[in-house]
Amino acid sequence: MRRTRRVGTAPELALRRALHRRGLRYLVDVAPPGTNRRRRVDVLLRGARIALFVDGCFWHSCPEHGQLPKANREWWRVKLHGVVVRDKDTNVQLAAAGWLVVRVWEHDDPDEAADRVAALVASRLVRPPQA
Ligand SMILES: [Zn+2]
Repeated sequence: MRRTRRVGTAPELALRRALHRRGLRYLVDVAPPGTNRRRRVDVLLRGARIALFVDGCFWHSCPEHGQLPKANREWWRVKLHGVVVRDKDTNVQLAAAGWLVVRVWEHDDPDEAADRVAALVASRLVRPPQA
């Protein structure tokens, strides 16, 4: 089956632009070295070892906007639950490989999310020792 996640949705592009404006540079749609190559990260901030995901409200069952379609309800329930289980497993795998996983909802304000990420990046970048 083809993957259901699209690369570069509008909310993701908005967040990427907001990160870029804050001087942050990143890789897009990659699997970090040493992790499952089939689990791709939306936005990877390599230096700070942050794996950032922009989760769609429908596919990732957002508590505010996630809804089961009325038709084929049971099929969708299983399907969408599988996505949540997979997300959790991805989080565990990335954390085990030393990555900080940050998940942002597609409904989140991109500038607020970018501020949060920028603060995390700053806190995780190792400063050179003072002379
Ligand atoms: Zn939502």
